[in-house]
Amino acid sequence: MLTGSVFGVDNEQMYDTLRASYRFHCPRNPGGELTRVRLSAFRRLERLPGAAHPAVYRVTYDCACGEAHQGLVTHADLDYGPLAPVEIEFRNLLTGRSEPVGDELAEIARSEVQRGNWPWRLYCSREARLKPVWPSSLAMVAPAQERSDEFIGVAVTCPSCGAVSLNLVSGAHLDVPFYHDRIVRYVDRPFGDARDLTVDAFHHQLHSARFDAERADLL
Ligand SMILES: [Zn+2]
Ligand SMILES: [Zn+2]
Repeated sequence: MLTGSVFGVDNEQMYDTLRASYRFHCPRNPGGELTRVRLSAFRRLERLPGAAHPAVYRVTYDCACGEAHQGLVTHADLDYGPLAPVEIEFRNLLTGRSEPVGDELAEIARSEVQRGNWPWRLYCSREARLKPVWPSSLAMVAPAQERSDEFIGVAVTCPSCGAVSLNLVSGAHLDVPFYHDRIVRYVDRPFGDARDLTVDAFHHQLHSARFDAERADLL
């Protein structure tokens, strides 16, 4: 267990590994500290046309200031940021020494993948099974308030078949790499492809569709 205070985080890093969140500017706080945004606070992801190398995504997110903003994030920061080794020094309160923990975190990620655990998994309705996905696979995200605050609705584009499916998961299922809900809820029918996906259609489905459930704790 890590106990103590963390310092020395490289502020140039887009992703804050210890807080499991991406760093964005808040327009209400220009020049100020970056705001931290968890994946579950993302609302919409769109890959910008044209910018192929590197691919760039426009993210609409719910900011801590209460407004929704848009920010740009590269494909690498979006998908690999949460897994990249980072230079973090951790002040161990027991020994009073500073210890680098970046290598340790990278080693944890490596061994999880080696034993077949992928950082993010969501259900593909077309293939009728849970699939390994990336943060960039998320098309839309919204709290499913009418059911429970604990649940987040996700429209996910399957990286292998391209079908869009609707899932219902906990915030941690999205925010914490390698953590998975025991049960993932999903709409049995695929949404079609991404072109059929509008914000209205997504919210309508989220609040009206019947969700089936799939056990997710089997590797
Ligand atoms: Zn803001
Ligand atoms: Zn699929």
